[in-house]
Amino acid sequence: MNTVTRPRILVVGAGFAGVECVRRLERKLSPDEADVTLVTPFAYQLYLPLLPQVASGVLTPQSIAVSLRRSKKYRTRIIPGGAIGVDLKSKVCVIRTITDQIVNEPYDYIVLAPGSITRTFDIPGLTDHAFGMKTLAEAAYVRDHVISQLDLADASQDPDERASRLQFVVVGGGYAGTETAACLQRLTHAAVKRYPRLDPGLIKWHLIDIAPKLMPELGEKLGSSAQEILRRRGIEISLGVSIAKAGPEEVTFTDGRVIPTRTLIWTAGVVASPLIATLGAETVKGRLAVAPELKLPGDDGVFALGDSAAVPDLAKGDGAMCPPTAQHAQRQGRHVADNVIASLRGGPLKPYVHKDLGLVVDLGGTDAVSKPLGIELRGLPAQAVARGYHWSALRTNVAKTRVMTNWLLNAVAGDDFVRTGFQTGKAARLKDFEYTDAYLTPEQVRAHIEGAGRQG
Ligand SMILES: Cc1cc2nc3c(=O)[nH]c(=O)nc-3n(C[C@H](O)[C@H](O)[C@H](O)COP(=O)(O)OP(=O)(O)OC[C@H]3O[C@@H](n4cnc5c(N)ncnc54)[C@H](O)[C@@H]3O)c2cc1C
Repeated sequence: MNTVTRPRILVVGAGFAGVECVRRLERKLSPDEADVTLVTPFAYQLYLPLLPQVASGVLTPQSIAVSLRRSKKYRTRIIPGGAIGVDLKSKVCVIRTITDQIVNEPYDYIVLAPGSITRTFDIPGLTDHAFGMKTLAEAAYVRDHVISQLDLADASQDPDERASRLQFVVVGGGYAGTETAACLQRLTHAAVKRYPRLDPGLIKWHLIDIAPKLMPELGEKLGSSAQEILRRRGIEISLGVSIAKAGPEEVTFTDGRVIPTRTLIWTAGVVASPLIATLGAETVKGRLAVAPELKLPGDDGVFALGDSAAVPDLAKGDGAMCPPTAQHAQRQGRHVADNVIASLRGGPLKPYVHKDLGLVVDLGGTDAVSKPLGIELRGLPAQAVARGYHWSALRTNVAKTRVMTNWLLNAVAGDDFVRTGFQTGKAARLKDFEYTDAYLTPEQVRAHIEGAGRQG
């Protein structure tokens, strides 16, 4: 069999969008039609919406890391590494492997699905002292960190230290921040039973956002219900407020308040992966500007989707872009696979249209709000919909079983307050977890490829 003549499809990123695309290509293309390659730094697809439950110890990290190798039908070649640059002219993707080797991967079709990274601002101390909630390592780190604050506060004789270790700040009132604050507050609240020396009155969670509302997509009534639930549980919500500066032992809010704390969790939005900037192509707020067919205008072999692409939201119209959600990423993954196949076979490409199905917000325990198909739900029914939705969206039966078992165990046995210590002593800044400084500039990509060409 001559492998050289088959078209090469390169998919970058094994998230919601990338994995959905690869699986559909495997199903719909015969092995003789094209070679499919996937570049991914990790050997799993991360189910991000359940990260706050890993951070709060309800789920083990492995349960939301869905294996890419569960079936013999999965025939895609996987390159373990991250793409650090793409040269559209020579159709080459530059990859840094997990052993730090730089390799050039030529392609005929490229599907860019590297997702997003945490959006930060030029706030003094922010990138040095804040934790994100975007990777499995971050969630596991935050879990250890929060439990260690309980342990250290419990052991400390110094009232100031105790107070600062027991205050926690989460910035970002979207679903990621709200769920993170809610799930972790539940954990620290439950700690009172296991740490008899701790004064429950000292444990305090702050959830702040510069916007005037939490999760505006929920609408007026449901949004107020969510706020009410959180306030009842003792989470102090401050709206119209952000961070003025962050230090190792205190955070200053823009309204002048200084909060003694060792825990700042930053979830104030996302921006496209830095990989997108290496293309030197047009972007919209950092996301790669694509046509409704999910392809780069003027370049037949380049497709992009998910959080890293600005995809016109045709269902909404009015020039709207699809929001960065798993719901869109997954559907765009299937759609892009169909369009790549159509390109390959000389067929017409179809525009992507999807009407939002709603939102589910798990606030831990029996607290939740959901809006499936516009129906507003609260409490247990909302929680059943939220967990049912996430459970059914997990790709493999093994992952489903792990998650369900963890949920049942946590409901029956409660939290165990175990710190694993796996990441103790490691650098824990946003860029360490999200590898944001690993990328090349467009000029470096060009120079690298020209250099490789001369050597070859
Ligand atoms: C805490 C949290 C809660 C959320 N809750 C919800 C929710 O309830 N509902 C909802 O719809 N959405 C939710 N989202 C958003 C949703 O997870 C994202 O919109 C979705 O994951 C985007 O899919 P994606 O495939 O574009 O990116 P991702 O799923 O992030 O996948 C990107 C993949 O690319 C890999 N990658 C990154 N850079 C490179 C590179 N250079 N080379 C190769 N691979 C790379 C990453 O490791 C990752 O595997 C949540 C997000 C977070 C963080």
